[in-house]
Amino acid sequence: MTQRQAQDPWRLLLVEDDVELAEMLSDVLSDEGYSVDAAADGQRGLHLGLTRQYDVLVVDRGLPVLDGLDLLTRLRSRAVRTPVLILTAMGTVHDRVDGLDAGADDYLVKPFDLDELGARLRALCRRALDVTDVLRIGSGHLHVGPREVALPSGERVALAAREFALLWALASRPTTVHSRAELRRMVFHEAPASSIVDTYVYYLRRKLGRQVVRTVHGLGYRLGTL
Ligand code: CA
Repeated sequence: MTQRQAQDPWRLLLVEDDVELAEMLSDVLSDEGYSVDAAADGQRGLHLGLTRQYDVLVVDRGLPVLDGLDLLTRLRSRAVRTPVLILTAMGTVHDRVDGLDAGADDYLVKPFDLDELGARLRALCRRALDVTDVLRIGSGHLHVGPREVALPSGERVALAAREFALLWALASRPTTVHSRAELRRMVFHEAPASSIVDTYVYYLRRKLGRQVVRTVHGLGYRLGTL
C-alpha cells in the first residue's frame, strides 16, 4: 500500500504546453498545497511520470512530441497506475471515451472552473490512497515498488522492467486472453514483426516456472499461476 505520510503534500505532475495556463495552474495548485512538477511536452511528462512518484497527474490532451493519450497509454503499460485527469479542448462523447479507454480516471473540458478542478483532484487523490500496489498470481503476489514477485514459499524474485511490465499487464486482467499484437503494442511499443512478447514470456517462465504464463493456442497468452 501507499507509503506516503498524512502530512506530506500531494505530489502532482502537470503536463501542459500552454505556458500561461501552466504557470497559472502551478501557482493555484501550489497555493492549494500540492507539490507541483510541470512538463511542457509529452516526452518530458513521460520521463517524469516514469522516474518520479506522484499522487496525481494532470495531462493536457494536445501536447507536442507525444500527445496526452499516448503519454497516458505508455504510463499505464509500464504499470504506472497514478490517477490521471485529462484536460482537453475536445469535449465530445467520443473524445471522452478515448480518454477513459487510454486509462484516464477523469476528464475536464477547457475552459474549466478552477474550483471544479480542485474538487476533482481531491477526489482522485483520496481514491489513490486505496489503490493497491500488489496483484495476485495464484497464491503468489506481484509487487509494484520493488518490481518483484513473492512466491507462495515466501521467496522473492526480482524482475527486470520489461518482465515486470508484461506480467503486470497479464495480472491486471487475469481472466483475459491477450493477443501477441496487443501485448506488443501495449507493453513494448514494438513493430508487428517483432517476437519480443514470446521472448519475455520465455524469460518470465525461466524465472518463475512454466505455468506462470499460459499459452492459449491461436489466441495469445493469459496469466497462469505460481
Ligand atoms: Ca495543448
